Amino acid sequence: DLALYEAKRAGRGRYRLFESGMEVLLHERREMEIDLRRALALKQFALNYQPFHDLSSDTCMGFEALLRWNHPVKGNIPPLDFISLAEENGLIVKIGEWVLRTACMEAATWPGELIVAVNVSPLQFKADTLLQTVSSALEKSGLPAERLEIEITEGALLDDTDNVLKTLKDLRELGVKISMDDFGTGYSSLSYLQKFPFSKIKIDRSFVANANADSEAILRAVAGLGSSLGMAITAEGVETVEQLARIRGERCTHVQGFLTGRPMAADHVAAFLANPHTDWKGSPR
Ligand code: C2E
Ligand code: MG
Ligand code: MG
Ligand code: MG
Repeated sequence: DLALYEAKRAGRGRYRLFESGMEVLLHERREMEIDLRRALALKQFALNYQPFHDLSSDTCMGFEALLRWNHPVKGNIPPLDFISLAEENGLIVKIGEWVLRTACMEAATWPGELIVAVNVSPLQFKADTLLQTVSSALEKSGLPAERLEIEITEGALLDDTDNVLKTLKDLRELGVKISMDDFGTGYSSLSYLQKFPFSKIKIDRSFVANANADSEAILRAVAGLGSSLGMAITAEGVETVEQLARIRGERCTHVQGFLTGRPMAADHVAAFLANPHTDWKGSPR
C-alpha cells in the first residue's frame, strides 16, 4: 500500500545517501593518504615542543616533541587525525624516523641538561629498526642519550612482548629513558610496570581533569605505586591552579599541561627558557 511504498522509497533514498556519504569519506581518506605520502618530501611536518617541569623545584626539565602537519590546503592537521592512517599504511616508520632525527637535532641546541621526549608508535617497534634509528639520531645530532626520553603507549606492549622488551632494554642500555605514556587509558596492567624498564609514568590527563573520587583514587594509587618502584610520575594535561594543587598533594614528580606551558614552535623554545611565565610557580603545595 501507499504508506509502505513511501517508507521503502524513503529508506532506499536514505541508503543511497548513506552510501554516497561513505564514498566521500573513503575518497577523502585516499586523498589524505596521497598527501601524507608526499608530506615528508615537501617538508610539511614540524615539531612543536611542550615543556614539562619538576614539581619540587618548579624548574623546566625538558620538552615533549609533538608532531604537526601543515597541509597546504587544509592547514594544520592534528596528529590524532593522521597518525592512525600513517600506522595503517606503514608510513609511520619513515615519519617516526624524521621525528626522532629532528627532535634530537633541535634538542642538541638547547642549553644544559634539558631533555627531549619523543612519542614512538607501536608500529615502529614492529619495524625492528628502532634501536638503529635512535642510535643514529643521537650520533648525528651529538645529543647525549641521557637527554632523550622515548614515550610509548600501552598498545606497544600488547603483542610481540618479548621483542618490545628486548628493544626497550637495549634503549636503556644506550642511556635513553623510557616513559609509559597516557597511563590508565589503554589496556593498563600493573604488571607492565614491573615487567618493562620504565623510568617514568605519565598519568593520562583524564585522571587530572576529572575531580571525582574515582579519578583521584586512581591517580593516587598509580603515583604511589610508580614512586615505590622508583619511577618519576608526570601528571599530564594540567590546565588550572586547582588541578596543580591537587597533583602537588600526590606523589607526582612532574607536571605537563597548558598551565605550565603550551606546545610551541621550535624557534620559541629559547625565548621561553629565557623568559618563562612564572605565575603558577610556587603555588600552594
Ligand atoms: P600525547 O603524547 O599524550 O601528547 C600530549 C597531548 O596532549 C598533545 O596533543 C598536547 O598538545 C596535549 N596537551 C598537553 N597539555 C594539555 C592540556 O593541559 N590540556 C589539553 N586539553 N591537552 C593538552 P597533540 O599534540 O594533539 O598530540 C596528540 C597525540 O598524538 C599525542 O598524545 C601522541 O599520542 C600523538 N603524537 C604526537 N606527536 C607524535 C609523534 O611524533 N609520533 C607519534 N607516534 N605520535 C605522536
Ligand atoms: Mg606523549
Ligand atoms: Mg600523553
Ligand atoms: Mg595523550
